[in-house]
Amino acid sequence: MADVFCLGEALIDFVSMESGVSLIESPGFLKAAGGAPANVSVGLARLGVPVAFMGKVGEDPFGHYLERTFRSAGVDTSPMRFDREARTGLSFVSLTGSGERDFIFFRNPSADMRLSPDEVDPEAIRRAKIFQFGSITLITEPSRSATLKALDVAKEAGLIVSYDPNLRLPLWPSEEQARQEILVSLPLADIVKVSEVELEFLFGSQDAEKGTEQLLDMGAKIAVATLGEAGCFYRNKQASGAVKGFEVNTVDTTGAGDGFVAGLLTGLLRGEAHRHLDDLDASALDTTCRYANAVGALATTRKGAIPALPTADEVARFLA
Ligand code: ADP
Repeated sequence: MADVFCLGEALIDFVSMESGVSLIESPGFLKAAGGAPANVSVGLARLGVPVAFMGKVGEDPFGHYLERTFRSAGVDTSPMRFDREARTGLSFVSLTGSGERDFIFFRNPSADMRLSPDEVDPEAIRRAKIFQFGSITLITEPSRSATLKALDVAKEAGLIVSYDPNLRLPLWPSEEQARQEILVSLPLADIVKVSEVELEFLFGSQDAEKGTEQLLDMGAKIAVATLGEAGCFYRNKQASGAVKGFEVNTVDTTGAGDGFVAGLLTGLLRGEAHRHLDDLDASALDTTCRYANAVGALATTRKGAIPALPTADEVARFLA
């Protein structure tokens, strides 16, 4: 039985084998499993948390590769769906010389966008304690209605709802629509994790103290802003504060945020802390955020998102 139910996109990232080149110049690509909510589910499984993932992939070799990757990490993939008409979503990405990402998505439409409300498994959701989702399945129908239905089921069953908007502007019809939709969906969440870039996009400022306050005003019980290598800033009704990040040998920051979320939820499930998010004091939140920072930091020490996500033992050794 899963403690956390993750819903969202799973897709293949094709990462250029050569870095410092554009997609036009790249000689070839390595396939890697991706999609933020899927990465979070693998992160949780590695940390020893029972977790299920729901998302739609194509009835094709890439869809089966994703399902197999998640399942072999320990994720319950029984809520996953396979699309016979649309293919698994793909993205191609290369880090150019200037350190910027050159990328392109193949989703015209892809299977993840076609998850429909009748494919949502309410029973599997009701059995969990925390429901984790992102904004990408909210962009188009029918995955939007499917996400909202799953959220309804989760809320009705008394699950804690955790949201990492995970802004991907190129996937939205317009900037304004992205901002509006994310702002409207934020009040659905008890736990919100955002990055500084997302704070700036949503509220016009990277100020984490102010931003987390705004998130609490919108209904969050815990709001956390991640600050890259600097760590994070948290807030609930009782306390707020910055928690310093760890210095590590960073190779690739892909998946740091997803690892952070997995660490955060793992920390909150300990001692059933998720049941009293409003009452957690500074010491409890410091400990949880330190753990999340450690998972995020370790996730940057290896290439790729999923291969870099640490196990509970690795985090324990790192913290010791
Ligand atoms: P995202 O990946 O969503 O953009 P961040 O870059 O803020 O999010 O990273 C999430 C978390 O991962 C940070 O809060 C921090 O704990 C950890 N982290 C990210 N980059 C580094 C780094 N270079 N060194 C150490 N920790 C890092």
